[in-house]
Parts: sequence; C-alpha cells; structure tokens
Amino acid sequence: MDSDFKKLEEKLTGKSLWNEPMKRHTSYGIGGPALGLFYPADEKDLSDILVLSQEKSIPVFFTGSGSNLLVSDDGFDGFIISLAKTFKTLEIDGENLYAECGVMMGHFVKKCAGAQLKGVESLIGVPGTLGGAIKMNAGAYGREISNFLTDLKVMNLSGNVKRLRRDEIEFDYRHSSLQDDEIVISARFKFNKGTAEEIHNLKSKASQSRKMTQPLRFRSAGSVFKNPPEIAAGQLIDQAGLKGTRVGDAEISEKHANFFVNHGDASSEDVAELIRLTRRTVKEQFNIKLELEIKTLGFSKGAFNA
Ligand SMILES: Cc1cc2nc3c(=O)[nH]c(=O)nc-3n(C[C@H](O)[C@H](O)[C@H](O)COP(=O)(O)OP(=O)(O)OC[C@H]3O[C@@H](n4cnc5c(N)ncnc54)[C@H](O)[C@@H]3O)c2cc1C
Repeated sequence: MDSDFKKLEEKLTGKSLWNEPMKRHTSYGIGGPALGLFYPADEKDLSDILVLSQEKSIPVFFTGSGSNLLVSDDGFDGFIISLAKTFKTLEIDGENLYAECGVMMGHFVKKCAGAQLKGVESLIGVPGTLGGAIKMNAGAYGREISNFLTDLKVMNLSGNVKRLRRDEIEFDYRHSSLQDDEIVISARFKFNKGTAEEIHNLKSKASQSRKMTQPLRFRSAGSVFKNPPEIAAGQLIDQAGLKGTRVGDAEISEKHANFFVNHGDASSEDVAELIRLTRRTVKEQFNIKLELEIKTLGFSKGAFNA
C-alpha cells in the first residue's frame, strides 16, 4: 500500500477499505473495486481523507448507501466516502429536527411519525440515507425531502465547512443544485404537527402502494429514468413493449418498467445495454429522450448514449 495511504489509515478513527468491490455497497449488487472506501467517524476524519485526496489528485465520490447508483464493473480509481455507518445523530425539538446525513430514510420517517411531525410520511420505503435523499431531492407520492428543509451543513474538498440556507439551494424533481464536490454532513428541518392517525394512514397508504407496484423482491436502484413532463417513464417503456427484456442477468421489470432488476449476476454492462436499448426504442417510437435518474460511476463518457 502507498505509504501516504497507510499514514492516512493510521490517522483515521473510522473504517477504510482498500480495493473494495462496490457490488457489496450498492442496492444493485453491481460494481467493481474502489481504490478506497471510507466510513469517516467524524468531521476530522472526513477532512483528513479529503485533504489527502486533493494533495494526491485522487478523484472523490460521495455515496450514502448506493441505492441510486450504478458502478461500473471496472470500479472507480478514486476514494468513495460514505456517512452511512457513522453520522447517525437525529434530534427532535418540538417541530424542529436535526439529523446527520448517515441516518437512513426509514429511520428518519419513523422518528418524524413518532413525534407527530407531518410531511414526509409518504417517503417511507425510499431506501438510502438522508444525504443521498437531499442530494437527489428524493420524493414519493407528491412529497420531497426538500419541502421541510431549513438549512444544511456541507464540507468541500479542502475540508472547509459551511452552512447553506434552503433558499440558497435549488431543488427540482430528483435534482438539487448541490455541487458534486461538496458532501452534505447534516441538515435541519421544520415540520408542522399532525395527528398520529393521519400520519399513520398516509404512511400505510404509501407502503401498500409501493408493495403493489414495485419489484421489491429483486435488487434494483429504483427508477432508472426520470419521468419526462406529463408521462411516466415506466409507461413509455411499457408501451414500447420492453417489459421483461433481458440482457444477461439484468431485466426490465415486468412489475414496473422503470425498474431494471438484477436477477443475481448482472454486470454493469448488462444494465448499460438495457439503458441504451430503452433510450433508443423510446426515442424511435415516441421521439422522447429519456434522462437518467440513477447516478453512474466509473463509466466512460457516452457509455449510456443510445
Ligand atoms: C427499491 C427502491 C425504491 C426507490 N424508490 C424511490 C422513491 O420512491 N423516490 C426517490 O426519490 N428515490 C427512490 N429510490 C432511489 C434512492 O433510494 C434514492 O435516490 C435515495 O435518496 C438515494 O440515497 P443513497 O443514500 O442510497 O444515495 P446513493 O445512491 O449512495 O447516492 C445518490 C446520489 O447522492 C449523492 N450523495 C449521497 N450521499 C451524499 C452526501 N452525504 N452528500 C452529498 N452527496 C451525497 C451521491 O454522490 C449520488 O450522486 C429507490 C431505490 C430503490 C432501490
């Protein structure tokens, strides 16, 4: 191992994994090795990793729990940093909530429901961390994580921390203006109070609907494409006759055409081929260009072009 990497490892309180296969850390179960995968214990660890990466010009990628991520079979020759195992604090004070970005969304929604904080109950069942949800502006059934956000704490690649108010960030459908070179460390929210009954009902309705419509028995990264204006991407893919199309062990789900599932041994190339095929077919049949919702890592430019 590079002597600087060894020194870094000795300095860190958190965990570092070297040449770690990313298929162990993505919901797809796909992905080659990352040069380094880090679970920093605190902000000091995080800053130490980032500073070394900059000194040595090593590319950095932030992940939560990899539930919206397709990593190439060739992996990523850089550092991947996740807060998912360590940044877990969540505190509620009246209608205000403070959470670190490694908190899982399921836990976040349950804590809100337990304190009768209304607004995010329909996000139950969205996998992943709060950090991933904020970056992606995760949403479901008409609600988005940004709806009740008041401010964020981020760290840049030099290890400097700053606060961003909600009105300094643009949030859109599955998009935020947060930069790829800033990691979101924590966030604050202000909710309204609701009754236990209405929160419970909305939560159960969302859970039920998800179970009915999504192929939850199989590995996936959720919706592959964003919905174009006025029509669901899944509907277009279905109407194009692509449900059930298979490349290797990857398949366009019969249950939900915008979910591509891994039947066990799919490669990133299998999924990439399905993406290209879908884009090509939908463009030919409907003249609509599908935009990726999932994030991709370690692919060459143009790898997903139809
Ligand atoms: C079965 C299933 C159902 C799903 N349903 C939904 C749904 O209903 N609605 C929805 O919106 N999504 C859905 N998703 C997609 C996914 O769960 C969300 O996008 C989720 O918010 C991703 O969180 P993550 O922690 O796994 O992020 P990752 O997949 O690890 O990363 C996603 C993006 O966020 C960035 N990121 C992660 N953490 C941070 C951080 N701390 N700071 C800065 N950037 C960060 C990454 O760089 C990447 O760009 C679903 C996925 C699955 C598998």
